[in-house]
Amino acid sequence: MAEIKLTQLRKKFGAVEVIKGVDLEIRKGEFMVFVGPSGCGKSTLLRLISGLEEISDGSLDFDGERVNDLVPSKRGIAMVFQSYALYPHMTVFQNMAFGMKLAKNSKEEMDARVTQAAEMLQIDHLLDRKPKQLSGGQRQRVAIGRAIVRDPRVFLFDEPLSNLDAALRVQTRLEIAKLHHDMDGVTMIYVTHDQVEAMTLADRICVLRDGMVEQVGTPEELYDSPDNVFVAGFIGSPK
Ligand code: ADP
Ligand code: MG
Repeated sequence: MAEIKLTQLRKKFGAVEVIKGVDLEIRKGEFMVFVGPSGCGKSTLLRLISGLEEISDGSLDFDGERVNDLVPSKRGIAMVFQSYALYPHMTVFQNMAFGMKLAKNSKEEMDARVTQAAEMLQIDHLLDRKPKQLSGGQRQRVAIGRAIVRDPRVFLFDEPLSNLDAALRVQTRLEIAKLHHDMDGVTMIYVTHDQVEAMTLADRICVLRDGMVEQVGTPEELYDSPDNVFVAGFIGSPK
């Protein structure tokens, strides 16, 4: 069974439909990458899945249960944005622990989970710093760490590397791949407009165009047999 199933999913902003009947199944443990031109609806689709945006029509199921009306905090999803959205007045530790605190975890459990996630991301020496004392790459890791400590079953990433320089992009991309590997069975949905990111990270790629799914397949399938010139242009020879 699909862990996440979108059936004729639609989203309108006023009179304008931006997600136009998307059918898609995402399996448990899968690394699914959404690609497509700017404005095609990638971020909106992630926000519909996370519950940050209300669905206009169609249905969204997690493990066979309709979740259209479930609030974000009940969906077991963590989202990592391209802007780090850390609290400036809190330390790294406090930023990472914040989501857990809300969920009323014990202090011992909170310490243990934050420490473990910080070690995993190699930011354990930065736990007492404030965000402004960190580099962009370190901030992005704190944002990822904050997602990890909440122990989500699904991670959503919206162009998480786009504010990083080229070297850090590669390094952080490898770390996200390792995270997917280490967190056995965790599902990741990842938005990018970068072909190399898509080809190297994805189990499957979903190519979006103007609010609709153009083609879904493994990187090899899309590379070897794109359905049309649009898909070929997106997946084709990496620049
Ligand atoms: P992408 O992430 O692929 O660049 P988005 O999902 O951000 O695309 O946007 C898809 C379309 O929906 C765009 O035309 C955008 O202008 C529109 N849109 C996104 N959010 C809103 C909103 N809150 N209100 C009105 N239109 C929006
Ligand atoms: Mg976007």
